[in-house]
Amino acid sequence: MSDCLFCKIAAGEIPSRKLYEDDLCLAFYDIEPQAPVHFLVIPKQHIASAAEVDAGNSALVAHLFEVIAKLAKEQGIGSFRVVSNVGEQAGQSVPHLHFHVLAGRDMTWPPG
Ligand code: 5GP
Ligand code: ZN
Repeated sequence: MSDCLFCKIAAGEIPSRKLYEDDLCLAFYDIEPQAPVHFLVIPKQHIASAAEVDAGNSALVAHLFEVIAKLAKEQGIGSFRVVSNVGEQAGQSVPHLHFHVLAGRDMTWPPG
């Protein structure tokens, strides 16, 4: 989508601190980290949110989780939180599917 921030980051039109990239996805550090480790994993394909996951794109979402597990291992983070906010009330500010990976501090439950 031409006016989507994360599509632009995926296309390299807006710079990011990249952690990992392949044909299908990109992982990059969040610009406003909420934990000592805070990166985002996004599909290169535009999917608006986790509410738009279906049989046609769920293999891609599974790939994102493989990448999350691989990056967590590489970074030596055995305990981490994966978050995907859906919609404004849940705090989604960028309407392109992304998984936050947060680690390096104690996490509270339930989340605020
Ligand atoms: P959401 O609020 O949709 O769950 O998550 C969006 C995340 O994207 C936020 O944590 C925010 O800090 C991050 N973000 C917004 N704009 C940029 C940007 O231009 N670059 C990077 N690296 N992160 C961004
Ligand atoms: Zn997009």
